[in-house]
Amino acid sequence: MLDRRDILGWLTEGRECRLEELWARADAVRRERVGEAVHLRGLIEISNHCRRQCGYCGLRAGNRQLPRYRMSDQEILDCVRQAEAFGYGTVVLQAGEDEALTQERVGDLVRRIKADAPLAVTLSLGERTPEELACWRRAGADRYLLRFETSNRELYERIHPPPPGGGGTAVHRFELLRVLRELGYEVGSGVMIGIPGQTWADLTEDILAFERLDLDMIGVGPYIAHPATPLASDATVAPAPAGEALESSQVPADELTTYKVIALARLACPRANIPSTTALATLNLAQGRETGLCRGANVVMPNLTPARYREMYEIYPAKACVRETSDDCHRCMSGRIRSIGRVVGAGRGDSPNRLARQESDSR
Ligand code: SAM
Ligand code: SF4
Repeated sequence: MLDRRDILGWLTEGRECRLEELWARADAVRRERVGEAVHLRGLIEISNHCRRQCGYCGLRAGNRQLPRYRMSDQEILDCVRQAEAFGYGTVVLQAGEDEALTQERVGDLVRRIKADAPLAVTLSLGERTPEELACWRRAGADRYLLRFETSNRELYERIHPPPPGGGGTAVHRFELLRVLRELGYEVGSGVMIGIPGQTWADLTEDILAFERLDLDMIGVGPYIAHPATPLASDATVAPAPAGEALESSQVPADELTTYKVIALARLACPRANIPSTTALATLNLAQGRETGLCRGANVVMPNLTPARYREMYEIYPAKACVRETSDDCHRCMSGRIRSIGRVVGAGRGDSPNRLARQESDSR
C-alpha cells in the first residue's frame, strides 16, 4: 500500500534512475495481477451533442463553432458488428450529455447489442439519473465510465458547472460512482492530469481516491487545452511562488506525469483495468501507447467511430487517430501490442478487481 508521502514523492521525482524503479514495480504488479493480455475496447463516439459547459471540453454546449452529429441506431449496430468481426470483447458507447439519448433509446440499444453479440457493453454518457442508470443496467449494460476529473472540490466546481436548470443530476460524481457500484456495474473513473489550478497535493489525493473507491477501471490522461473553452485562457496556471512548498505548485500536463499516474494507479489498484489512453497518444503518437502499456496499463481503446464523425468529436485539438479508419486503428493497435511482446486479449476482459470483490462478497 502507498501512503500520501510515497505518492507525493513519486509524483515529484525527477531522477530517471529512481523512476526506472517505479516503472519496473508497476510493470511487475501489472504482469502478476492482470497478466500479459492487452484488452481491446472498441470505442464508438455516438453523439457529440452536450448540454453541459465543462470548462475544459471542446464538446461543451457553448462551443458554437463545432458541427454536431448523432449516430443512428443502425450506424451504432454496424460498428458493434465490426467490433465483433475484429474480435474485440467490449464496445464502449461514449457521448456528451445528449438529451436525445433518452432512457428508452439507450435501454433499447443496449438490449439490441446484447441480443446480437456476446460483447460486454460499457457506457460513458456523463451524469445521468439513478433511474436511467438502473434501467440501462437492467437492459444488460456491464460497465460505466465516469471520471471524477479531480478530487479537489473547489477546482472541480470551478471547471465543472452544474447542469442547466439544476436538473436531477447536480451531485458530485463521487456520489454517482457509489450509485453505479450499488447497481452492479463494473465502475470506471479517473482524472485529467495538469488541469490549470491542479497541484501535486491534489493529484496525490486523486490516487488515494482510486484506492478508496476500489475502482475496477482507471482512465487517466493529460489535460489538453482546447482554444474554444474558458479553461484554455485560465490564469491560474502560474507556478507556485519561490519558497512555496512543492506540493502546492501546478502539475504539468505532460507525458512523464501521465506515466507516473498510470504506474501509481497500478500500485494503488493492482487488479484494475487501466487503459493507455488516446490523450497520451496525442502527446506522443510514436510511442505513447506502448510506453503506457509498459508502465502499468493493460487496455487500449481502438476507435470504431465512422471516419465522417471522428473530427467532430473534438474534445481537444489534434486528437490522435481522427484521420484513420476503424481498420487502420485495428491493425495499428494489434501491431503495437505485439511489438512490445504482449498478447491481444481474448474474451470480454472483465476487471479482475470486480471478480475478486464478487468472490469475497459471496463468501
Ligand atoms: N460526457 C461524458 C463525460 O463527461 O463523462 C463522456 C465524454 S467526455 C468527452 C470523456 C472525458 O474526456 C472526460 O471525462 C474528460 O476527462 C476528458 N476530456 C474532456 N476534455 C478534455 C481535455 N481538454 N483534455 C483531456 N481530456 C479531456
Ligand atoms: Fe459534455 Fe462530457 Fe465534455 Fe463535459 S466532458 S462538456 S459532459 S462531453
